[in-house]
This record gives sequence, structure tokens and C-alpha cells, in this order.
Amino acid sequence: MIIFMIGIHLRLTNDMESIRKCIDELQIDCFQLFLEPHHGLSMKRKLHYRAIFSRLKKEKLVQKIFVHSPDSTALRVSKNGSTIPSWKKIRYRLQEADDLGADGLVVHVNIDRTFPIHAVAEEMSEILYDIDVHCDLLLENTVLKKSISADLYQFNLFIKRLHEKYPVYVCLDTAHLFAVGYSCSSKDEMKELKSKFPSIFQHTKLVHMNDSAVECGSYTDHHSHLGKGFLGRGSLGAIVSVFSQNIPFITETPKCDFDMQKENVETLNQIMTGNKLDLDELGSHAKIERVFYF
Ligand SMILES: [Zn+2]
Repeated sequence: MIIFMIGIHLRLTNDMESIRKCIDELQIDCFQLFLEPHHGLSMKRKLHYRAIFSRLKKEKLVQKIFVHSPDSTALRVSKNGSTIPSWKKIRYRLQEADDLGADGLVVHVNIDRTFPIHAVAEEMSEILYDIDVHCDLLLENTVLKKSISADLYQFNLFIKRLHEKYPVYVCLDTAHLFAVGYSCSSKDEMKELKSKFPSIFQHTKLVHMNDSAVECGSYTDHHSHLGKGFLGRGSLGAIVSVFSQNIPFITETPKCDFDMQKENVETLNQIMTGNKLDLDELGSHAKIERVFYF
């Protein structure tokens, strides 16, 4: 049985009641949020979020909670030609997310593709070798032309090498994938990508399910509401079709009101259901079910 979880990026997240209301009305299984940018959380805020996360989990209102790092914590090469300052920040954020009880920390990968992968892996293990956390480190593909994560061939090697040293995982952003030139227009194309780049797909533990407001190959990060962008429902469905694990799909749409958010979740549900129909038509034994915990 294949089970997909769906969720959204939460924006108004300061009190338990508004989070609970949102989960309840949207019927989501997971969510992601940004915490304060640039600096770490104060002890007071930490305890506040920790209490909220723990209650949501205890009451089985959600299955997974993710924290998205601010851009200042992206993985990058510093001016002195090293990734160590970046890994130190990531270590701090990972420990912080783990203390809150989050399941994963999402970090953008903005490493120049000319920088040697083995050096990144060595520097990572130098900083992370003794960290003891349950929270997954999820490295996300970006749209920066020079970034190693914008080219799947290099990103695949990158994840493979890093995973040998520390269990890094992937957060695959569909709008970013499209923006760097992968059209994702059919299931066959997605199957081909999956077989060509196995480390990326095997280690994907979260999908940022976003439509794109810009054309394929534009190298611009501009998300659209689901089904209303250049990817559309067809391509988003093709992307879903290659994931057979129990992974969450979280949508990060442009700022909008609650009704629009609801529509996005509805579209996400329909994309999942549409994919179920396709698999059933093909006579697959696989079953995709939405699981509700209410
Ligand atoms: Zn994303």
C-alpha cells in the first residue's frame, strides 16, 4: 500500500488554535514553516514551538512537521573557499529543529558546481560527525544556474557522495526542477529521470509540490498556485507517479487567502486521486490512499 501525505507551508503560525483550525479545515497530514530568520530562536520561542509541535503529534493531528531554513542558512561556499561556516550554521539549525521535535530541516543547496564534491563531503563530516539528532537534513534543489543542485547529474553525485558520510536526504521542489529545464511533461520522462538519477529519487523524503509561474528553463524561482502554472495538473501528476514511498507532498504557493489555500489543497488531493485512477487502470496492485486522522 502506498500512502501519500499532503500538507502546506503555514504562514500564520503563532498560536496553537490557528494551527489547529488550519489543519482541521484543510485536512492536511503535515506542514512546513519558517522560524525566525537570521538568528536562532530565543528560549521562550523554542519552548513555545516545542509545546505546539508536541501537542499536535500527541493528539495525532499531523504526522510530520518540517522546518524550512532561512536563505542565510543555505549551503554555500564562503569567501575563503570553504563550506565549513555554512555547515556550522546548518548544524545549529538542525539541532534547533530537533529540539523542537521537527521531523526534517529543509536547506537550499547553493554550492557552485565547480566546487569539488569530495571537499564538501569532507567538510560536512568534520562538522556533523558527532551530531545526534532524529531530525532529517533535507537538501533542496534550487534554480540558481551555477548551483550544483540545478543540474540533476551533478546533484545526484552530490547526494550520493554526501550520503556516504552522513544520512542527508532530498527535498525535491517541482517548480525549481521545471525552472532549470526539466519539463516533467509525462510519466515516461519522469521514469527516465528516476532511473538516471537514482540517488536523488531514492533519498527524497519530501516533495515541495509547486506549480511554476515561469516557463521551463527560465532559471527563475516563481511559484504558482497548483494547476494554474506552466507545469499544470498533468505534469504534477507525472511527478507524483514516480514516488512509491510514504513521503509527504507540501505545497508552497504564493501568499493567498484561506479560500485559495483550500483550493490548492483540493487540487493536490485531486492530483493524488487522479494518479490513483491511472495506476488502477493499468492494473497495478498498488493502492494510493489518503489517510485521515480525524
Ligand atoms: Zn521549495
